Amino acid sequence: MEYDVCILGGGAGAIGAGYTLKDSGLKVAIIEQNEILGGTHTAGMVTNFCPSPEPQFFKSQIYDYLQPLNKCTVINEEDWWKTNMCYVRPSTDGTFSADTLSGAIHFDRLLLADKYYNDLSSNLSIKLKTKFISASSVNGKCESIIVEDIETENRFTLRAKFFIDCSGGILCKNINSIKGEDYFVGSDNKELYNESCYDDITGDEALINGMDFHYRILLDVLNPEDTSIYPDVPGTGVATNGIYYDYTDTTKYRIVSPDLGVNINKALFSTTDLSIIYNNSKNNVLSSWKIEKATTPGYTNFRFDSYADMLGIREGWRIKCDNMITQDDTIVRITSLTDLAITKAIAVASWFYDFHGEAGVNKTELKKLRILPFGIPIGSLFPEKLKNVMIACRALGASHIASSATRITKTMMAIGYAAGFVAEDYVNNDRTDMRDVPVATIQTKVGIADTISYLEDNCYGKSYDTTWTP
Ligand SMILES: Cc1cc2nc3c(=O)[nH]c(=O)nc-3n(C[C@H](O)[C@H](O)[C@H](O)COP(=O)(O)OP(=O)(O)OC[C@H]3O[C@@H](n4cnc5c(N)ncnc54)[C@H](O)[C@@H]3O)c2cc1C
Repeated sequence: MEYDVCILGGGAGAIGAGYTLKDSGLKVAIIEQNEILGGTHTAGMVTNFCPSPEPQFFKSQIYDYLQPLNKCTVINEEDWWKTNMCYVRPSTDGTFSADTLSGAIHFDRLLLADKYYNDLSSNLSIKLKTKFISASSVNGKCESIIVEDIETENRFTLRAKFFIDCSGGILCKNINSIKGEDYFVGSDNKELYNESCYDDITGDEALINGMDFHYRILLDVLNPEDTSIYPDVPGTGVATNGIYYDYTDTTKYRIVSPDLGVNINKALFSTTDLSIIYNNSKNNVLSSWKIEKATTPGYTNFRFDSYADMLGIREGWRIKCDNMITQDDTIVRITSLTDLAITKAIAVASWFYDFHGEAGVNKTELKKLRILPFGIPIGSLFPEKLKNVMIACRALGASHIASSATRITKTMMAIGYAAGFVAEDYVNNDRTDMRDVPVATIQTKVGIADTISYLEDNCYGKSYDTTWTP
């Protein structure tokens, strides 16, 4: 099978790239091992878009589609624009936390997955239930990958001129498997970027990942209108305390994020096969649910319903790229005065330092930092040594500190959206190295200047913008 562009993985980054490439006229494949598109935010049951500047397609394609159907809620609707910037506020302990409730978008994950498929499948070749096995490269160029149809176990070779790794880094890791040089797991040691927020001692990789395995519970009573029996959660659509509504029937279902603290063996990261952790998690979920049910008020009326199709992985591999985003980058606010030619920003991130497992992080130093909406440089999507493979997912080039502030769904969509334009330019101009694609062209296509103006007009300097210094 021959393609112009192969997108590996069908998560948020892939959706962004897919919307860019669907009208490009190029022959594009998306390879996804799950039964549905969307990855963590659909199959992983993470039904919540945190505030972050989104790519251009997002509002018209997603929000404007779901909202009239009443399948998408913005918490605090009059503050819709806040969904473009995380509302960061100081906590009593001096750290900074995000006010996700003021601007998060909660959505129907299965409807959204269907929409992605319907929007993209007429122009792109979407292969679901198909998993990546291996890649072959010559002189820094990936030439082909081998994938397997999960149902038939048939393997086939897929060739493409350009690859976008949206799988969490599996393709890049398969090519560049030199640990410590080309990819990292979990925490970094201080010497890597000399960041003040790291301890001198490297944290335990197994602690830092923050894997969660969501599951769905079903209200098991005859009268679902009797809200007095519900667990104590705030208004419809709110995702908080690890409890999400499930829009398939908001009166009956909940999604639970048990924060299992799954005991992850470091050695498991050396394999691309996460099914062992997935199956271990399944067993943990059942015992965890028994405890939740016995101890949480209202849960006595629920029964276990179903598991998420995939593990929620906050931070697996991060790929060594031309430009590694570090803590210093996260505290430089992007404005219209920012020289985009120098920063080469193709997206804006604005989430807070969202750690799950803080091993290796110096919390005293962390408290001194104030995150600001910052630019994501194109070089953080270019894996070192590779010429035709971009990384457009949570495994992008970022330190652990920076990764915690970039890896949310809308930001991943925004970088995928940019990666799609790079792929298009690379193929159409017969380039030999993605670094030859003019960054100014990509910046114009993604509309980075418009994003910045929007933030300046609607977000910067407003009363909730506690970090504003004119
Ligand atoms: C528990 C948890 C809670 C979170 N909460 C929020 C939140 O509230 N709001 C928010 O905005 N963000 C949240 N995030 C972060 C956000 O959901 C993810 O970082 C983001 O969606 C990741 O997008 P991605 O494209 O990088 O990867 P993913 O969505 O993980 O997509 C990767 C895709 O690659 C596929 N894949 C992997 N390996 C293979 C293979 N070998 N072959 C074929 N396909 C493969 C996977 O099946 C998957 O579909 C949370 C994350 C977690 C884990």
